[in-house]
Amino acid sequence: MKYLLILPGVLVLLVLIAVVRTLVSPRKTSDYQPPQTDEAEALRLAGKLSKMIQVDTTSHAGGDDPARFRAFHKTLAELFPRVFSQLEKTEIDGNLLFYWKGRSREKPILLMSHQDVVPAEGTWSHAPFSGDIADGKVWGRGASDTKCSVMAFFEAAEQLLAEGYTPPTDVYLASSCTEEWAGDGAPKLVAELQRRGVELFLVCDEGGAIISEPIGGIPGNFAMVGVFEKGKADVKFTARSNGGHASAPMANSPSARLSAFVTDVEKHDPFRRKFLPEVSAMFARLAPYAPFGLRLVMGNLWLFQPLMKIVLPRVSAQAGAMLHTTIAFTMQSGADAYNVLPQEATLGANMRFIPHQGEQESLAIIRRLAHGQNPMAPDRGHIHHRLIDMGLNQKQAVAALYVISSILGLSAVVLTSSGAIKAMLFLMALAVAAFLASRVIFRRDIDKALQAEKAAAEEKSTETATPAETVPAEPEEESNEEKKEEA
Ligand SMILES: [Zn+2]
Repeated sequence: MKYLLILPGVLVLLVLIAVVRTLVSPRKTSDYQPPQTDEAEALRLAGKLSKMIQVDTTSHAGGDDPARFRAFHKTLAELFPRVFSQLEKTEIDGNLLFYWKGRSREKPILLMSHQDVVPAEGTWSHAPFSGDIADGKVWGRGASDTKCSVMAFFEAAEQLLAEGYTPPTDVYLASSCTEEWAGDGAPKLVAELQRRGVELFLVCDEGGAIISEPIGGIPGNFAMVGVFEKGKADVKFTARSNGGHASAPMANSPSARLSAFVTDVEKHDPFRRKFLPEVSAMFARLAPYAPFGLRLVMGNLWLFQPLMKIVLPRVSAQAGAMLHTTIAFTMQSGADAYNVLPQEATLGANMRFIPHQGEQESLAIIRRLAHGQNPMAPDRGHIHHRLIDMGLNQKQAVAALYVISSILGLSAVVLTSSGAIKAMLFLMALAVAAFLASRVIFRRDIDKALQAEKAAAEEKSTETATPAETVPAEPEEESNEEKKEEA
């Protein structure tokens, strides 16, 4: 019996170590305040941003008339005359690139931010393109995303040019007009830089900001520097039926199936949570500023990581999003009338992919779930899922479940002589086995899908490349070929 106390004992000891570490580590307070500029200067700068907001640069998927953005360029030229007259300007279909020759060609840098904004819908306390200056703020669409940063680097260059400054290295200023719909603006600028043989040392794009209270309970102003960006995709799910009349509904209608899918995904996050080194570093940096409880947890991720992976997404959506791929269900459609059963119901979602579970894997997982191959039903998959949340990979989680159920089963068999309990244990073992099998099949399907995609991509690239030595045949090759022909 004594041995049973070892585990809790070790846990208590570890927590004690964490508490002591927290108590002896230095506390910090953030006393950063924005520098107090004189009001006239602040208003001069606010006026520039306001003028930029007043030009509607809403962009739409599929492309816009570049003339629309030339009006914005005209405003920029008026606001930053030196940048426009002294730097070498290139415009490609409304996208801007400026070259500022430095003293050296080594390690050139590029500062960029997009000109376009997303459509302004809904109600606004100040009209979206008013550029109102009120309550110490500049109001309007694009004020924070992201004409502020376009304005910031143009104004910095403008002031430095006025001083006759020459940068130590080449500087490029870039601004695309298709960013909001992931258009080809930035790729066109990249192609232009490649054509010139420019290899950039640093690219600085829009990102975080100086945020007050970045995580609830940590007071002060903190500059959030974004060092990676999640990928994204808009995904559409469609469920079909034969339709019919609302007076005689059938079960399992398209809307009901989609709803069940949404509930399932929201309740049982299918994506793996992980603390990337960048995220861990951010927590470690913020910890000294936090009150004791938070400081204890954030400053001792070596111990509390598994717990944080479960708790964090529940307490802070923003912090949680740093740990895993996310999916947000945003659009839904069904029949056009109240009394018609839809033949087709659709669901739109916006996904953001985390580096450790990229676009292909995340899409493969969500595709399988949408097809109903879901081994994570609430009753069975729950424990397994919590294990994944705690940081185990799929195989480890399956193994852990197996070990746990074996230990429980064996100890119960040892402790009891009742036939009924033994039978129950047998049934439990069957249930666990069924679950494990479904889990393994799910994972194998995902891996297969990923492999097939990878093979297809490789085949595509070898078509253009010089023929290499023959690739050993893989069992999947045949099915890949079939797929290709169908496509
Ligand atoms: Zn933006």
